[in-house]
Amino acid sequence: MKPSVVGIDLGTTFSLAAYVREGRPEVVRDENGVALIPSCLSFHEDGSVLVGTAAKARALADPQHTIFSVKRLMGRTLADLQKESQLIPHQIIERDLGRNRKVLFVKIGDREYTPEELSAMILREVRQRAGNPTKAVITVPAYFNDSQRQATRDAGRIAGLDVLRIINEPTAAALAYGLDKTQSATVVVYDLGGGTFDCSILSIRDGIFKVLATNGDTFLGGDDFDRALMNHAAQAWGFNLDQKDPFLLQSLRSRAEEVKIALSQNEATDFALTYKGQNYHLQVSRAQFESLIAPLVDRTLEKCRAALRDAQLRAKQIDEVILVGGSSRVPLVRQKVAEFFGKTPHTDLNPDEVVALGAAVQADILSGTRRDMLLLDVVPLSLGIETLGGVVDKVIHRNTPIPARATTRYSTSVDNQTAVILNIYQGERELTKDNQHLGTFKLSDIPPMPAQFPQVDVTFLVNEDGLLTVTAKEQRSGRSAQVTVEATHGLTREEVDRLIEESVVHAQEDFDARRFIEFKAKAEADLRHTEKALAETGEILDPTQRETLEKCRQELLQAMQGQDVDRLQKAVVAFGKATLPLAEALMNRVVKQALSGKTTAEVDANQIQ
Ligand code: ADP
Ligand code: MG
Repeated sequence: MKPSVVGIDLGTTFSLAAYVREGRPEVVRDENGVALIPSCLSFHEDGSVLVGTAAKARALADPQHTIFSVKRLMGRTLADLQKESQLIPHQIIERDLGRNRKVLFVKIGDREYTPEELSAMILREVRQRAGNPTKAVITVPAYFNDSQRQATRDAGRIAGLDVLRIINEPTAAALAYGLDKTQSATVVVYDLGGGTFDCSILSIRDGIFKVLATNGDTFLGGDDFDRALMNHAAQAWGFNLDQKDPFLLQSLRSRAEEVKIALSQNEATDFALTYKGQNYHLQVSRAQFESLIAPLVDRTLEKCRAALRDAQLRAKQIDEVILVGGSSRVPLVRQKVAEFFGKTPHTDLNPDEVVALGAAVQADILSGTRRDMLLLDVVPLSLGIETLGGVVDKVIHRNTPIPARATTRYSTSVDNQTAVILNIYQGERELTKDNQHLGTFKLSDIPPMPAQFPQVDVTFLVNEDGLLTVTAKEQRSGRSAQVTVEATHGLTREEVDRLIEESVVHAQEDFDARRFIEFKAKAEADLRHTEKALAETGEILDPTQRETLEKCRQELLQAMQGQDVDRLQKAVVAFGKATLPLAEALMNRVVKQALSGKTTAEVDANQIQ
């Protein structure tokens, strides 16, 4: 067996490879038939590094030189990790490598490694097991942002792999079940792994995959089931876990995991532990275990509900449910997911192999044997442009499939404006101050024209790799400028969640703020135009009309100073009414001019005849 191209599931807790043989995907197994490689590294004095099961076995004896969960560090900054760093028992350093590029390093012993290098060590092991293929498709969670994907790609490259593509784990799962062959389906992928939970909703139409929504929890998974069992046993045996005896914690943890796995098969099992020469025993039934983990399972369903809401779907509109991740083997999980969606989920494939199997199918497609499929990702947060007064005008909305392109036309607000500054923002809120600023650029050398006359077309393009390029072109003069926005750091899943949540919480407030700014802009324009008109044809107003107009103008000026959007709206409307006679007079004059022009033209025409 020597495949030249493989699919790799680079997991938080386990990694593995698969490849297509005689048209069917198969996982790569070691001589003992084991496919899963613990995503764990152990470093030794002499510079050698153990990967996988051997490394995991050393965790207890040598925690300082053993590292888990590298995936959590990929493409992140120190700020992103503030919440998580205490869970990683290693020193993490951030270095500014100049030109706004920050890089994380994990300190192990007296050496430092980037997350990319650490992941590469895992990938190298996976690659070796598969007989050293040169090309691979690697999977990432659907919510991974550009820098996390880039870091994964880099890790592959460091491991000597030509990374054909980075694809979403849920998409890979759907491919493994051959759902690409269905004409049209809406699919939920429920992925409960070791440390993370992801729920993704995909739509498949004529072989085209689109991620409709993703949700989840980066700190919810099988580890939490283990912890619930540990606490249960510790309580029964009178252990105080706060003392943080690493040996006790580690042995309790690995025994708890065994008990959990046994309970997926059996109705009851024995939880046994030897500690400080004493033997401890506890009978644990599946029902007991289920009552311990029920709240955790319910939390996953909450996330599914949120994903459905985002995708604007009801549970019964889902055609297929796929279970992914080792923890989806727990019978209670299967039962609750089936109840929630009212559907028996797909469980035929091994839940901790399905992502790798799907990646292998994709690798096979990309290596040239099949070209019948297209994969699509989505824009994780809306992208927009700042318009008058700090309002964000969204150009590409969240969850738009990429590559995505959208153009919006703007104009100038002042006469003879020769340059436009474009500020680009990311986020769900209405005002720039609540969103993330991505970049600024200037479109200059616009020939002087009256306000509202230039036509500035701003085009946003998000390419396959999630990179945003913004181009602006003034149509009348042909002037253009462009900028490529590269994320200097990624947004965390929590950040994305928080930003989305905030936009809901602040929706009304933001809406009012936005309306106020818009009315104010209109008021300013109206005041300017009226002033001009008064200077030109002011004499046609009678004294009462003039007085009403002035009263309305004063009220408008005051309302503009305040905060009350309804008052401002009324003032704008009243002012508009008061200026009507003026507008009519202007209009009459224009019409008269036009008519007289027409008359001349007719006369001329007659003369020719
Ligand atoms: P990840 O994708 O997060 O790297 P996996 O999908 O491989 O991880 O899931 C690993 C988790 O699955 C671990 O918490 C492991 O204990 C759990 N697990 C594996 N097999 C079973 C089983 N039979 N019953 C319950 N949990 C299991
Ligand atoms: Mg996984």
